[in-house]
Amino acid sequence: MTGPDERTPAAAPAGPTPAAATGPTTAPDGYGDGTRCVHAGLPAPEPGQPFLPGPVFAAPYHLGPAGPPPPGGNGYGRPDNPTRRLLEAAIGELEGGDCLAFASGQAAVTAALLSVLRAGDTVVLPADGYFEVRRFAASTLTALGVRVLHAPTVGPYPELSGVRLLLLETPANPGLDVCDVAGLARRAHAAGALVAVDNTTATPLGQRPLDLGADLVVASGTKALTGHSDLLLGYLATREPALLDAARAWRSGSGAVPGAFDAWLAHRSLATLDLRLARQSANAGAVAALLSGRPDVAAVRWPGLPGDPAYPVAAAQMRRIPGIVSFDLGSADRVARFLDRSRLVFAATSFGGLHTTADRRAQWGDDTPPGFVRLSCGVEDTADLVADLTAALETG
Ligand SMILES: *Cc1c(COP(=O)(O)O)cnc(C)c1O
Repeated sequence: MTGPDERTPAAAPAGPTPAAATGPTTAPDGYGDGTRCVHAGLPAPEPGQPFLPGPVFAAPYHLGPAGPPPPGGNGYGRPDNPTRRLLEAAIGELEGGDCLAFASGQAAVTAALLSVLRAGDTVVLPADGYFEVRRFAASTLTALGVRVLHAPTVGPYPELSGVRLLLLETPANPGLDVCDVAGLARRAHAAGALVAVDNTTATPLGQRPLDLGADLVVASGTKALTGHSDLLLGYLATREPALLDAARAWRSGSGAVPGAFDAWLAHRSLATLDLRLARQSANAGAVAALLSGRPDVAAVRWPGLPGDPAYPVAAAQMRRIPGIVSFDLGSADRVARFLDRSRLVFAATSFGGLHTTADRRAQWGDDTPPGFVRLSCGVEDTADLVADLTAALETG
C-alpha cells in the first residue's frame, strides 16, 4: 500500500531493470490500479442493467412542467450529459479530484488558461512541452494582454512572484524531461502563483499531480488514457471549487464538450488502462535498453532508464514510467528506411495507443532535429517488438 506521498527517492538499481517501471501499482485509495480502473465511475449494480450504461444521446431532455432540472439533472446536452458525468466520475477517482471532460486535450488546456488568466497576468509555459500550447499562447494569449514566459521542463524556472499560473508538463512531450512537481508547487504557492500540470504522458496511474500539490491537472485523454487511437478527449481536474466552477462556465460558454459516444468509448477503454500501461512500459524498457546499447542510435531518452537525466526525479515522483522512448537516427532518410523495414511500427503521430507507432516530429515543423523519433510502444509481445526494431535498424 505505497502511495506517491510515502515513497522516498529510489537509489538507482544495480541492474538494467528500471525500478520505477516495475514499482508499486497500488494507489492511495487502497485498491490496486487494476481494480480501480475496472470499477472507476461505474454506477451501483442494478439487476438487469449493464455494468457500464450505454451512451445517452440527447440535445434537450424532457423537462418537468415546473421548469429546469435541479443541479446534476438533465436539461440540455451542452452542460448536462449522464454518459459524460460517469466518465468524469471515473477520471476524477483516478486523479483524486473533480473532473470535467472536454472535446480534446487542447480544449482542456485552453480552458485552464482562459478561465484563469486575465489581461496583465503572467503565465509560465514549458519551453519543451506540447507545441500547440505554445502556438496558442503566442497567437491568442499575447493578443489578450497576457505576458507569456517559457521555462525548460528541467529548469531553470524564472522568479515566480508576479506570475499568475505556472504550467508544467512532466514528462514533457516529446523530449521526456521531467520536473519535481512538489518542489515547484511549493515555490509557486509561496509566490502566490497557481500550478497546473499536463498529465497526458504520465496518466493518473503514473502520477497524481493534485497529491503532489498542483492546483489543476489538464490532459489529453486521446493518448494512453484511452489508448485505442479512436477518439479525441481532454479533461481538467482540481480540488478547488472556484477553479472547477470557472472551468465549467468556460466549457459551457465555449461549447468544448465531447460527444456522448466518445465519452462512452473512453470510459470503456479506461477499464484496461492498468494492463495497457504495464505492457507499454515493459516494452519501452526493453526498447530503451536495446537502443541505448547501439552506437548507431543517438540521444536515447526514457525516464525509467538508470542513467537517463530524468531518472532520479522520475523514480521518486512517478509510480510507473510511460511507454514512450525518444531517440535520434541522424536524418529524415534513415528514419524513413527504419519505418519502411519495420513490420510492426506504424508511422503515425500521437502516442499511447495499443499499436507501436513512430513519429518523426520535425515533419510537423516543431523544433526537434530532423532524425528525432518519438516511439510509442504498444502492447505487442516484447520479444516480437525488440526483434522487429533490431531488424529495422540493422542495415543503417
Ligand atoms: C496531445 C497532447 C495535447 C493535446 O491533446 P489533443 O487531445 O490532441 O487535443 C496536450 N498536451 C499534451 C502533452 C499532448 O501530448
